[in-house]
Amino acid sequence: MAWNHRYTQTPPTEERVYVVRVPVEGKTCLNCGSTNVARYPIANHLGPRITTTCQNCLTPLLVERPTVEDNWPPFRAVTYDWPASPGERAARDALERELAG
Ligand SMILES: [Zn+2]
Repeated sequence: MAWNHRYTQTPPTEERVYVVRVPVEGKTCLNCGSTNVARYPIANHLGPRITTTCQNCLTPLLVERPTVEDNWPPFRAVTYDWPASPGERAARDALERELAG
């Protein structure tokens, strides 16, 4: 993979753009008890995330930051992984603490 692979945009080659919901074995929903759990990329108010969600009642069991292997989002700004300024970092930490309860 070239260094700029993630930073350049090309038109999609697929006729339709879609997300594959990868089944997760061994997880049980805390809300409904279903074992139909899948992991897939999402975009929420915090930015791109990877969710592990019950497919029966859509209760999120885990929401995490995407790794390089997740390739999400597929296109990134060159500065995506740069450290945030102290003010931005403080705002993000406060928001995530608030969401964590
Ligand atoms: Zn459920």
